[in-house]
Amino acid sequence: MKILVVEDEPKTGNYLKQGLLEAGFVVDLARDGEDGMHCALTEAYDLVILDVMLPGIDGWSVLRGIRKSGKDMPVLFLTARDHVDDRVRGLELGADDYLVKPFAFSELLARVRSLLRRGGKATESEFLRAADLELDLMRRRVNRSGKRIDLTAKEFALLELLLRRQGEVLPRSLIASQVWDMNFDSDTNVIEVAIRRLRAKMDDGFEPKLIRTVRGMGYVLEVTACA
Ligand code: CA
Repeated sequence: MKILVVEDEPKTGNYLKQGLLEAGFVVDLARDGEDGMHCALTEAYDLVILDVMLPGIDGWSVLRGIRKSGKDMPVLFLTARDHVDDRVRGLELGADDYLVKPFAFSELLARVRSLLRRGGKATESEFLRAADLELDLMRRRVNRSGKRIDLTAKEFALLELLLRRQGEVLPRSLIASQVWDMNFDSDTNVIEVAIRRLRAKMDDGFEPKLIRTVRGMGYVLEVTACA
């Protein structure tokens, strides 16, 4: 899941980015409205966190630009405590939710997850499943055969991606951009290492094996009787 944060205050911006990264999201940070608008219109995001008071193009205009372009990803507005009118205006312009600064990160995270569950995919289940493996998107938990499996944030994001695109062979370059937000560098074995760790946790000791390496192509998660 990829999130765009548009925030000009470096401290708040970095704090949001770091927290969301640790929660397993891929995060882009734009430091002003112009940059934010550019990112929002050219990249694909699952959600935008948008500060109202921005230098240059303000949050209102960014939001208007996003909606005008036909993009309907959820937008969470950040507004100052003494500008209550802001939130009315924001909701009128097509924001999905707002949060008054200062806020607790846990509150932000709860709103983000709630918006992602609603966000244009109202019917999306809160669980992803394959055979006896179950990933709980809301509680960020994974079970296999009813046994709890502890994953790091990256492993969780990796498994979520594989489950969402079950049966599809995912090239390393795609995994790198979706989970690590990096361009694929063939010298790095970060994906191989992460896949190995993930398998050790959710495939070793279980049947059937779910993650398969497709030589020269990438990885696929699928339920097959004769893998
Ligand atoms: Ca600001």
